[in-house]
Amino acid sequence: WDSLSGPHHPLPPQGLSSSPSQDQDKEYVGFATLPNQVHRKTVKKGFTFTLIVAGESGLGKSTLINSLFLTDLYKDRKVLNAEERISRTVAIIKHTVGIEEKGVKLRLTIIDTPGFGDAVNNTESWRHIDDYIDQQFEQYFRDESGLNRRNIQDNRVHCCLYFISPFGHGLRPLDVDCMRALHEKVNIIPVLAKADSLTPAEVCRKKMKIREEIKQFGINIYQFPECDSDEDEDFKTQEQILKNSIPFAVIGSNVQVESKGRKFRGRVYPWGVVEVENPAHSDFLLLRNMLVRTHMQDLKDVTREIHYENYRAQCIQNMTRMVVLERKRRWVELRKMQEVLERIQEQMQHSHRGGC
Ligand code: GDP
Repeated sequence: WDSLSGPHHPLPPQGLSSSPSQDQDKEYVGFATLPNQVHRKTVKKGFTFTLIVAGESGLGKSTLINSLFLTDLYKDRKVLNAEERISRTVAIIKHTVGIEEKGVKLRLTIIDTPGFGDAVNNTESWRHIDDYIDQQFEQYFRDESGLNRRNIQDNRVHCCLYFISPFGHGLRPLDVDCMRALHEKVNIIPVLAKADSLTPAEVCRKKMKIREEIKQFGINIYQFPECDSDEDEDFKTQEQILKNSIPFAVIGSNVQVESKGRKFRGRVYPWGVVEVENPAHSDFLLLRNMLVRTHMQDLKDVTREIHYENYRAQCIQNMTRMVVLERKRRWVELRKMQEVLERIQEQMQHSHRGGC
């Protein structure tokens, strides 16, 4: 690349309002402002992000989502009793909120899966989640192949927060089955729920066990992108911390606590107070930063470039196979008709000769 930004060609100042001064104007073509143009356009359009939460009920899914996005998405939720839950199938409930921060708009959709793991027999309890993800891909595929491609609403699921119980010994068969059923379709981020019920040593042991099992059972969870070699050391360290923290040990709370003159989201126990956002107490902040500040775009890119592309390729393959089958079927029909015609012709020739 020929550089226009040497000592005699400084780049225009960064930021939305940057415009080269008159002196610089003579030496600039001006494409250095391209990132700003893209920035302005995307900010205007707004962003969307869709997150699915899975894991058995009572693990703190709704509380964590409220804590993560500082909203109350579950105001109208009705918690079912044990009898109602026995025959209950997994429901898919969609909550959408528009959030705005410093002029940037985000349409956040949370897909909740009440009833997951609640029935007596939970075989294939993940089927509804699997179908839901496929339906969104299918809808997008249809819209993309349709006439009005400009205003497609993207409802593809970008991430699945999978809640693992802190009370078991690692993954349960349902966790393994579910994650394996979904891992080719969605970015799975495993979280160790209610981490305040474990001692630091237990958290460490459980995380190690879960990581081993994820590897052992061939589950492909979301992989943080590899750092470029020219990335700064702080960034590299941060990425390594993220990788080592899987599954994120989280704590959620819907209430503000006041202690020692400070107000924070936390949980009060007779023996002390747990702070949701205290890195010494849980990985909540790591998860939120990763999800919202550092990796949201990568989660969307992986969804578009890998998961959706796989779905699309599969669809096109199936469609081609159907076309080939249809052609074969028509050819067989044509062949049959030809045979009938040949027989009729033969019979006619016979009767003609007989008549002579
Ligand atoms: P969901 O059914 O998975 O959505 O679970 P909820 O968010 O409704 O939480 C179920 C119960 O667990 C509620 O009583 C919450 O107050 C409690 N809870 C939520 N998060 C935590 C947590 O991090 N630690 C502990 N100890 N309890 C929690």
